Amino acid sequence: MLTAIASASLERELKAILGPDAVLPGTTRAYLSDATESRNLTGKADAIALPTTAEQAAQTVAWCYEHDVPITPRGGGTGFTGGAVPTDGGVVLGLERLNQLRHLDPGLWRAAAEAGMITSDLRRRARENGLFYPPDPGSAEQSHLGGNIATNAGGPHAFKYGVTGAWITGLEVVLAPGELVKLGGAIRKDVAGYDLKSLLIGSEGTLGIVTAAWVKLIPAPEAALPLAAVYSDARTGCAAIEAALSSGTIPAALEYLDAGAVRATRGAFPVEIPDAASFMVIADADGTAEEAAKSHDELQQALGEDALLIHAPTQNKDINALWRWRDGASLAVTAQRGGKVSEDIVVPVDRLREAIEQTVEIGRRHDPRTCSWGHAGDGNLHSTFMIDRDDPGELHRAEQAAQELFALAVELGGSISGEHGVGLVKNGQLARQWAPEAIAMHVAIKRAFDPKGLLNPGKKLART
Ligand SMILES: Cc1cc2nc3c(=O)[nH]c(=O)nc-3n(C[C@H](O)[C@H](O)[C@H](O)COP(=O)(O)OP(=O)(O)OC[C@H]3O[C@@H](n4cnc5c(N)ncnc54)[C@H](O)[C@@H]3O)c2cc1C
Repeated sequence: MLTAIASASLERELKAILGPDAVLPGTTRAYLSDATESRNLTGKADAIALPTTAEQAAQTVAWCYEHDVPITPRGGGTGFTGGAVPTDGGVVLGLERLNQLRHLDPGLWRAAAEAGMITSDLRRRARENGLFYPPDPGSAEQSHLGGNIATNAGGPHAFKYGVTGAWITGLEVVLAPGELVKLGGAIRKDVAGYDLKSLLIGSEGTLGIVTAAWVKLIPAPEAALPLAAVYSDARTGCAAIEAALSSGTIPAALEYLDAGAVRATRGAFPVEIPDAASFMVIADADGTAEEAAKSHDELQQALGEDALLIHAPTQNKDINALWRWRDGASLAVTAQRGGKVSEDIVVPVDRLREAIEQTVEIGRRHDPRTCSWGHAGDGNLHSTFMIDRDDPGELHRAEQAAQELFALAVELGGSISGEHGVGLVKNGQLARQWAPEAIAMHVAIKRAFDPKGLLNPGKKLART
């Protein structure tokens, strides 16, 4: 952190570049935390910069780089790892005013959008033109395209369609020491050179600042028919998931909720579910009307055998209600105790049941109430320890439990993060899953992109 006098002079200098309305005091609370606020994580900044053009973003980075000022990029602030929380003072670079759709070419199935565009706005604009932008994180109404790219966000439909990176053909980024550079563009293939675009995707603001992206679109599926099946336990539910996977149909989404997550969310479920319900699977079938109906039948057969109940809405309003309820699962779990430590480990799908059961065991050993839900088809669990955020002992125990969870993920052949990234809260955890040589490559890459270590310091890689 700078002294008060240095902070005031930094604000003045940035105002000269960006204009008086585009710089806020570093104490502006809305820019100092993200969705990890429920585990009491907040940071400190010297100024908040809100550029309206990519060139202004580049000028801000250039000024910070020249004056050794750390930069924390920020999208919608919905991240679950403290990635957008400024830990070293300096400037929070908010991309929210870069929110324009630069092009939409419906006939060519592509668009170019600025980093601050809200994810659901991009999805809506595509839809209005008969097209589909598949990435659908549960935070889509608040998260930004740039934040999704920086975390390589997933979501329920990543099972069939892939994560955000699968839809990005080009990036406009600010690289140190403040250059605006294009990597890829409106092209669908590119194998010339190293894949720098993919290196930037998922780099959590530690290698560069995304100011815009070219995205691929596809014709929107004509129909999408979800169904939710409830079971008496995880064993039966996980067997049903494997039955769905081997049924030959490709679900567009294949989600699950364990007993604790069903308990936390059942009150808002669109229909009444049996008391004995302790596991739920949600599958989606999409395509042309005939394809969706056929796939829906096959999924219903595969999931139906041991289900206590199947809820299969067909009307748009009921379908939307089911997905709205699913999107609200994370918040409903937080509401249980006011806070949560929620991770996003991944395991091979055949180890899913073990990971679900072990999550509960780990919670039992460390005391906090525990549940998990997530993207079953991708083996991606949101293993969650529910806490009273005013009780430091509970937070500490939940964080200890999370350490065991990361060890479990690696032991089962998985990863410490499937979609939220590493950020601040998993700092140092990469060494669990990567060999020292691979960690050294990470450090060398960081140094090549950011020789002064000013881009989102303390995130993704352990401090050295
Ligand atoms: C209710 C809820 C549901 C969620 N569901 C999902 C889900 O289904 N799938 C999923 O993957 N995630 C989910 N998340 C987590 C979160 O929404 C994603 O990680 C999302 O991609 C973060 O986007 P954001 O714009 O909010 O980024 P922020 O939180 O602002 O930032 C995230 C990281 O990206 C960096 N960053 C942001 N913008 C840029 C930029 N333009 N250039 C460079 N770096 C940048 C930040 O420094 C930070 O490290 C959920 C979160 C909530 C609160």
